[in-house]
Amino acid sequence: MVVAETNKQHVAVLSSPGMGHIIPLLELAKCLVIDHGIHVSFLNITTEASTAQIQLLHSPTLPLGLDVIDIPAVDISALVSDDTPIVARLSVNVEESLKPLKSILIELGKPQALFIDLFCTQAFDVCKELSIPTYTFFTPSTSFLTFCLYLPTLDREVECEFIDLSEPVQVPGCSPVRTEDLLDQVRNRKIDEYKWFFFHISRLPMSDGILLNSWEDFEPTSLKAIREHPFYKEIPTPPVFPAGPLIKHDKPELDDVCLAWLDKQPLNSVLFAALRSGGTLSAAQLTELAWGLELSQQRFILVARKPTDASASATFFNVGEDINANHPKAYLPDGFLKRTKEVGLVVPTWAPQVSVLQHPSTGAFLSHCGWNSTLESMSHGVPMIAWPLYAEQRMNATMLVEEVGVAVQPVGIPGKGVVDREEIERVVRLVLEGEEGNVMRRKARELKVSAVKALEFGGSSHQSLSSIIKEWKIENEISV
Ligand code: UDP
Repeated sequence: MVVAETNKQHVAVLSSPGMGHIIPLLELAKCLVIDHGIHVSFLNITTEASTAQIQLLHSPTLPLGLDVIDIPAVDISALVSDDTPIVARLSVNVEESLKPLKSILIELGKPQALFIDLFCTQAFDVCKELSIPTYTFFTPSTSFLTFCLYLPTLDREVECEFIDLSEPVQVPGCSPVRTEDLLDQVRNRKIDEYKWFFFHISRLPMSDGILLNSWEDFEPTSLKAIREHPFYKEIPTPPVFPAGPLIKHDKPELDDVCLAWLDKQPLNSVLFAALRSGGTLSAAQLTELAWGLELSQQRFILVARKPTDASASATFFNVGEDINANHPKAYLPDGFLKRTKEVGLVVPTWAPQVSVLQHPSTGAFLSHCGWNSTLESMSHGVPMIAWPLYAEQRMNATMLVEEVGVAVQPVGIPGKGVVDREEIERVVRLVLEGEEGNVMRRKARELKVSAVKALEFGGSSHQSLSSIIKEWKIENEISV
């Protein structure tokens, strides 16, 4: 048995596919191995994706004591179509892939605990059968968790579609959620996308605990609400453990083109514009973005993925695939590369985002507000231009702009239309040149300091994870 052989605590971590999930779950695994001396089996649901994903999970830099176990890919072509939206597709994939989960866990010698991603809640049943404590690592924000915990009540009490409500959704103890900020998954309750999302969310209370990729000082209102508001006590809500920010740390190539370029730029002068891993812009929007950058006359790095007029999450499963696709020249305005060559750098698919954000020349981040990107930006004290594309990103953007004060959002987002070049020029100047940008940068830097404190030995996030570990150790000793 693995545990007896290594004489270490042994847990498993189960991620659902997609970089936005794999990255934080892998960071959790590393943290358990490195900071807490635990042996981790990382269960990876293999999909036909993705160069970047394979590189990440099979990197020689993973620590000893972290074993990546690939769950074989399944053929779901008979169960989904090209039109199946993202959560339904992901959930079908997970459901089929997890059929051998019981035998995998037994073969691993029954790990002492399983940490699962939000979209892997089928694992609760297997773990119950095997008496393995199961914790959800909730990878989005705490504020989104409060919405999710409230969703079953909302679903019971409201008859119309949520987007047709005349008032914002009043999540107990939290800021109201504007209907236009609601994620796509809850905009039509009749379709499978909602049903799958609801399925996973309504099973959250089955967790022995919910681990959060956040920290006390970043989302105090939502944390207080979950811990103290009577609504969450009644559900009942499992204990929450803010253990973040768990973000990845790039080890970029020494001659990385972005970093070499940044080395030559002044302090805080560069806008890093990278709108994905999984999202893309329409051709018209990418054109306006390029023009807006040019008109602003500010320095920039633009990660310009080939545009698509399909859904904004069009590339979720195949990030990093099109390394050799058309050169950005083909889809940026005529002459753009030439005219901006003194102030801008365009990279076609994937930039070492964390290293770029860490670089002293980077002054702002134009981002889709995925939660990992948000945490990475805050952990490096970089203010943002919020450009939400899909999933819960509109809610993140509103929080960053209105509650935390570290971002500006171009007028016109969220919306169906195209944000025009003048508006883009305005927000780029505001965040890099204006006093408002300085205020946001100061706030982001305060958060950076508090994030470091939370993670260090004895800090709030370190203690949070330690207290979970104690819990299952005690359970284990009792059962032995
Ligand atoms: N990322 C990167 N380079 C890129 C684009 C994205 O390294 O050019 C990484 C980024 O650092 C983050 C992840 O991909 O860790 C994206 O996760 P996020 O939650 O922000 O967005 P999602 O993929 O869930 O939409």
